[in-house]
Amino acid sequence: MSKEDNKTIEQYIVEKHSGHLRDGFHVWSHDMIDVPRALGDFRWTSDLILSTYYQAEHGMPPDHGLEYRIGASEGGFDVLDFNWLPESDQLPKSTEVDIAIPLNLRGEGKEITIPLPIYGGGMSYGSISEQVMLSRAIAAKEWDTFFSTGEGGYPQSLLPYKDHIITQVATGMFGVREETIQYAPIVEFKYAQGAKPGLGGHLLGDKATTTVAQLRESVPWVSLFSPFPFHSVYSVEDHRKHVDWIKTTNPEALVSVKVSTPTDVDMVAVGSFYAGANIIHLDGSYGGTGAAPEIAKKNIAMPIEFAVPKVHKYLVSENIRDQFVVMASGGIRTADDIAKIIALGADGVVMGTSELVALGCTRCSNCERGRGCPFGLTTTDPLLSQFVDPLWGAQRISNLYKSYALQLRSILRKLGLSSIRQLVGRKDLLVYRKSRETA
Ligand code: SF4
Repeated sequence: MSKEDNKTIEQYIVEKHSGHLRDGFHVWSHDMIDVPRALGDFRWTSDLILSTYYQAEHGMPPDHGLEYRIGASEGGFDVLDFNWLPESDQLPKSTEVDIAIPLNLRGEGKEITIPLPIYGGGMSYGSISEQVMLSRAIAAKEWDTFFSTGEGGYPQSLLPYKDHIITQVATGMFGVREETIQYAPIVEFKYAQGAKPGLGGHLLGDKATTTVAQLRESVPWVSLFSPFPFHSVYSVEDHRKHVDWIKTTNPEALVSVKVSTPTDVDMVAVGSFYAGANIIHLDGSYGGTGAAPEIAKKNIAMPIEFAVPKVHKYLVSENIRDQFVVMASGGIRTADDIAKIIALGADGVVMGTSELVALGCTRCSNCERGRGCPFGLTTTDPLLSQFVDPLWGAQRISNLYKSYALQLRSILRKLGLSSIRQLVGRKDLLVYRKSRETA
């Protein structure tokens, strides 16, 4: 791939983008693969960003040189590779491979299975636009999976998709209503988020528009703070009361507990199981959009690659691993990352940033400045929001999922596995990339 590094990104956009402007929104396409390295960072490299755009357009990984599997961080997922079987032992391409996962392993209550090990992570109305929420909702329905509306409730336009909505109960209790809990197949308690553990949630006044404030029962244009922690929960028994509250309001709902990754995250997971939750959602560092401070993202929570095996091992030693679903998020960018975190002990993943990148996010970190995202993603500005047509957005997210599903099946075949459930906790199927290179 050629990169003329002396050109600025603006020059590239002017030269390469003409003909790809859609209502003023830059639609990136595969003939733009020579965008300079100015885009991205070591984790989300320009190649990863551009290859995500490509997958969102084509529903398959690029085949013209873009690195779509790993970033350049020289740590975590980027130094892991798979311990492929010799070609003669790999499963033929014609072999059916099952990538569905159940979300309730407790043996009681509603059984829910999603056809791929992915659902969409919490992004609230206010942090993102209604159009982006609708894009995620339509894609979740198409794939028969879920997406979380984060805290703050959701607009009426999402009601047709309520069977695919995970609603969130967070410390600010914004938008928590009896009817939204009664509608929800899954209710998520957000105890903390990996991008900014201990810092709570924030919505700047500029984004708290009249409609956002109405749903949150707050004052328009006033900043909102969802404080850390839940002051009603200081023990497993308190936690149990929370779960009982949800089960009383909606006995059918599965309960997910979203936590960040402190050093005792394994104890937190076991406590959540005995409190009655169905899913423990571990949110490691490096996730989050431009709304999370960089210093928090890089320095507080444990990376998800460490947290997941720690939790998996402890749940196994407590003999409850096969009754509890472990979902992972926080810096999972690619199909390879998904397969690696499952091999490290997760059942599936919760995606957030990749979906925004599929919609055109450049990782510019302007989500919380002024009117919000210039591409109409993390904004509530009525004009900017119009840059995203929900049907177009849904198609891009859906295509990204399609590409992930394709790649996951291929990875499993090369590892000789016919089901993604067989990959859970198989650390032996991962190798340190550098040791392979020097071997
Ligand atoms: S492109 Fe938009 S969503 Fe992405 S980081 Fe920038 S402001 Fe945030």
